[in-house]
Amino acid sequence: MNSGKTRCGQKLVVLRLQIRDRVACLASVLGSTAPMQLAKIAFVDVAPDLSSLAREEREAIMRCIKAADWITQIYLRQISPDNPKLYDQLRSRQDQEGRDLFKYLELNGGPWDQFNDDQPFIENAGVRPAGAGLYPPDLTEREWRTWLQAHPDDQRAFESQCTVISRHEGRLVPTPYNEAYSEFLRPAASELQGAARLLEPGPLKTFLQLRADALLSNEYWKSDLAWVDTDGRPFEVTLGPYEIYIDRLFGLKAAFEAFVGLPDREATEYLRSFARHATTFNESLADRFHYRPQGPAISLEVVKEVYRGGEAAFGSQFIAYNLPNDKQFQMLKGSKNVLSRTLMEAKFSKLGAPVAERVLNSEGLGQYTFQSRLLYVLAHELAHGLGPGVVESGGRGVGLNVLLRDLYSPIEEVKANALGAMFLEHLVEMRQLELDDIVGCMASELVAFLLDFRTGYTGAHSLASVIQYNCLRSNGCVRFNPGNGTFDVDAEGCFEAMRSLSDECLTIQSAGDYDEARRFVRRWNRAPLEVDGVLAAVADVPFEVHPVYRLERHLEQ
Ligand SMILES: [Zn+2]
Repeated sequence: MNSGKTRCGQKLVVLRLQIRDRVACLASVLGSTAPMQLAKIAFVDVAPDLSSLAREEREAIMRCIKAADWITQIYLRQISPDNPKLYDQLRSRQDQEGRDLFKYLELNGGPWDQFNDDQPFIENAGVRPAGAGLYPPDLTEREWRTWLQAHPDDQRAFESQCTVISRHEGRLVPTPYNEAYSEFLRPAASELQGAARLLEPGPLKTFLQLRADALLSNEYWKSDLAWVDTDGRPFEVTLGPYEIYIDRLFGLKAAFEAFVGLPDREATEYLRSFARHATTFNESLADRFHYRPQGPAISLEVVKEVYRGGEAAFGSQFIAYNLPNDKQFQMLKGSKNVLSRTLMEAKFSKLGAPVAERVLNSEGLGQYTFQSRLLYVLAHELAHGLGPGVVESGGRGVGLNVLLRDLYSPIEEVKANALGAMFLEHLVEMRQLELDDIVGCMASELVAFLLDFRTGYTGAHSLASVIQYNCLRSNGCVRFNPGNGTFDVDAEGCFEAMRSLSDECLTIQSAGDYDEARRFVRRWNRAPLEVDGVLAAVADVPFEVHPVYRLERHLEQ
């Protein structure tokens, strides 16, 4: 689901072919001109209240925001080296069409429409290169493999998350990020160092210092360890190369992004009380499915948004994330979850609620609450940190993403949802929650599936939604009433179906078996045609929420 972020940028070629016709039909429903697409976005003002921070802390957070702006400059170049020129050309246009195009460009971070299957919306932009701006645009898999066979010593640098590949006089050359983007990373690092100097000793100060070093050295491990130990006080900063969504060529290269937030202490305490139970829950699963559980850290923060930069600021806006993604890292240390209350509330009221009102029957609608959404997002994110991450293969531990390749991300997303549902049931068994608290989760998830379907079926999150939707429908626990276009959701039946989905995903992941993964995805991967009418009926509901940060007041200080 698009609430979370994991490694989802890998190629989905096989799946893309199966649903190509469906996407074409959806694109025509959506329309594709910039003003039409802009009308589908709900812009929400976010005016952060920094009054809880001391003066030095306020200065420090503003420096982190400046660092985030440098990160955005890098990300735009990672998407396309032509972006700076395109921005300049459109910024100078004063006509309405030019202004609309520029606004839509700023929303997408490039000339390809992230809300419409990456169709180009600017003339002559051409097809988005699978490797974005991270490889030569005409690089083929064959050339890559041939090069690595002839130059095995290059493998490490080529497959690194943090190198850009270019071609010079017929040779493929890897350039580390700290060299390729040094003109932006140097000032970003200097802002982080400045912010660290303003803060009292503590986990955030340590992280900012180490992360500044990492931006300059290209070595992120130590600062990732320090980040997992930060606790949102006095504020949250996530900044660096993280997700590999944009690299659709090989699923290797990480995009830069930044997120700055203020702690929501009450919600954090509420959710942390549940997160503590995740460790024992995971240990019992590890016994059943024979895997080694990840490291002990499962930290969690609920935050109010202050600012986003880089990948986080463009296209679909995440409401939560679990990082770092590196499974070897997770085995040693664990991971950290950050949930954005600001975006969760905005999406709940602007997207989810109006869809829920039209597609759920009165019982389902009665159960559709913000609290049930919050709980399910928490469970989903925690579940990303549960289950097997590394599988023994050929006498060594191999990351699941390597073994399951293009199917890793969709299966990981199904697992996070299905295992998340099991975790919520576990919390009821442990008397941490009442059944009434979780009964609305399944109705809220059905609404989330429908929201996903509106932007196509090609991404990992959307495919995961297709798999779950079809499974729940075939189990009879989600029933569609064609007469009035509503759904009945049998929550108990859904939880049962999610249990078997969870078992299936954990079995596939424990074995790291690609063929089994393919059989599983093929079984459920078909476009749910009956939702066409439903999607048309909610076409007036915005497709996405986009935050507009109001920091003027703080900038003047
Ligand atoms: Zn997820």
